[in-house]
Formats: sequence, structure tokens, C-alpha cells
Amino acid sequence: MTVVKLQSRPRAGDVVTLPNGKKVEVRDIGLPYVQPPLAVCDDPLCPWHGHLKIRLKLLEVTVEKVRMHKAAVVTHEWVHYIRKYNRYERRRRRIKVRVPECIEVKPGDKVIIAETRPLSKTISWVVIGKREDLIAWKAKHETLTA
Ligand SMILES: [Zn+2]
Repeated sequence: MTVVKLQSRPRAGDVVTLPNGKKVEVRDIGLPYVQPPLAVCDDPLCPWHGHLKIRLKLLEVTVEKVRMHKAAVVTHEWVHYIRKYNRYERRRRRIKVRVPECIEVKPGDKVIIAETRPLSKTISWVVIGKREDLIAWKAKHETLTA
């Protein structure tokens, strides 16, 4: 498993050669407002550099624990409206997510996760980027949550 850090941000379609001679293409994951990470890996289950396909179900979550191998526990918090009382309640879920090798996360980080096929018994989400990798998220976020 190799991770190569890049000086400048790659564009979708760029091909990077790893030290072992393997060529890795940065894929277009279909989200123009999420930029590719500043590193390249040869993880087959990476949405950017492997063959893992993502579904267009996105969440912005906070990393809670990073103890598993290539996986993390994240917390998703949202508000749910209760009509009878005309008020909101806070809800939260812990989600286990896969972390590809090119993205480094630590507890407290805000990351964007996307739904994917079930990768193990409890994991069917993958980290596609950090909050700071986003461009023009605000405008897009409104349409995503609507
Ligand atoms: Zn990768």
C-alpha cells in the first residue's frame, strides 16, 4: 500500500506514477464541488484512485474515533422537526465509514462522506474529502438537504 503526497492539487483525469512504477489515475467522482485529495494511493477501495463507486447520498459529519484499520467512527447530527410541538429535536447517529489511504483524518475533523455499496457488515459509507476540500459547498448544500 503506497501513498504519495502531491505538491499541488491534481485534477480529475491526471495520471500519477507511484514509486513502484504503478500508474494511478485520479478519477472523476461526479461531484464538481469536491476537490481530489492532495495525495495519491493505490487502495482499490478508494473513490478517487480505486474502483469504488459512490452513490449521491452525501453527509457532512464529524470524526469521532480513528482506531480501526482504514475505517473511522463519525457522528452525524441533524435537527428533526416535530409538528405537534412546533419545535425541533436534535438527533445523532454514529456511522462507521471507510477511510481511503490518501485521506488522513483525526478526531474532530469535519469530513464529507458518501454512501457506497456495503463494504463489510457495518460499513457502507466512505470518506470522499474534508471540509476544506470543498468549493462552493454552501450553494450546493441547500439543494442537497432539501
Ligand atoms: Zn486514494
